Amino acid sequence: MTALMGNYARTDVEFVRGAGSWLWDADEHEYLDFLTGISVCNVGHCHPAVVAAIARQAAELIHVGNLFWTEPGMRLATRLADGSGLGEGSKVYFANSGAEANEAALKLARKARPGGSFVVAHGGFHGRTYGALSATPQEAKQAPFAPLVPGFRPVAIPDLAAAVDAGTAAVVVEPIQGESGVHPLPASVLAEVRAACDAHGALLVFDEVQTGMGRTGSLWAWEQVGVRPDLMTTAKALGGGLPIGALMASPQYADTFAPGDHGSTFAGGPVACAAAHAVLDLLEAPGFFGGVRERGELLAEGLRELPGVREVRGRGLMLAADLTGIDAPALVRRALDEERLVLNATGPVTVRFLPSLIVTAEEVHDALARLGRLLAR
Ligand SMILES: *Cc1c(COP(=O)(O)O)cnc(C)c1O
Repeated sequence: MTALMGNYARTDVEFVRGAGSWLWDADEHEYLDFLTGISVCNVGHCHPAVVAAIARQAAELIHVGNLFWTEPGMRLATRLADGSGLGEGSKVYFANSGAEANEAALKLARKARPGGSFVVAHGGFHGRTYGALSATPQEAKQAPFAPLVPGFRPVAIPDLAAAVDAGTAAVVVEPIQGESGVHPLPASVLAEVRAACDAHGALLVFDEVQTGMGRTGSLWAWEQVGVRPDLMTTAKALGGGLPIGALMASPQYADTFAPGDHGSTFAGGPVACAAAHAVLDLLEAPGFFGGVRERGELLAEGLRELPGVREVRGRGLMLAADLTGIDAPALVRRALDEERLVLNATGPVTVRFLPSLIVTAEEVHDALARLGRLLAR
């Protein structure tokens, strides 16, 4: 542990085991996980179907690289293209993370609109690599690493559409900003941005790295606002805990990349793709997304009734609560220590809730009870 660089503010807990909504530390203490690795373990920890798919594929073929075809990769591309909703003939590029999926989106948009600039939203988060970081207009994250990639234009959310002009390559936004504290972009803003992009020939890119894979109660968050992007990225929950990301492009942009334009050694490897198939199988079960919306409402309603909660935001099981008179990071720390409830603070007054999508109503009540006890003390 001590040889690890200090780039993470780690909590001093060592987890050794997980199952469903539960984690166990080295002393066999049981924790209720309402963070799931920041929306990675959407089908819970170590889901038997995911474990079996990984084990089966690992025994068969682990890596061969992108100079050849593999069945899990080809089939996953078809599945994501079909499931993207971006239209018949959509295509997929695989990456290993959210930042990398966004890098691919930026490069594709630039190639489609040579020399064009990127309009990004205040409060947005797109990752830590240079392109993704340049699309993340947050002083604390960017300043130590200047100079950044040129050509990014950060604007306030209500001004996004007005910022689009003939020189715009793309608008890059999260339909619901996750890292900034679960702030949904108003449907009217997204519709205006779509119209502005259409008027100027710019691409609309949705970063669904956190909102995707069923988190908000539909496979993709945009389905509930009815504004369709040209490019969409996902990652976090796609591999059930294994690193895999994807860029999906509508038919118009599906063939923008030519051989040699972009690539990654590990991307779309058969084991990660096998895990993603198992995750998608689970998400495709009848009634799955309805259940996410139901338990999301249960959690949101319960949170609204807790003392010290001023506002609850979000959709499905992507929720945040703003507190009054309570320090959110301190509360999150006490939730872990005193109630063995895993949560995350996105800011000084905001606690974020990202339970597994297979969380039960009973587990939602359990988490609310733990939080209620803590807030009452
Ligand atoms: C987490 C996240 C990223 C970055 O993903 P990594 O896998 O950490 O690179 C990008 N965009 C959004 C919206 C995210 O939530």
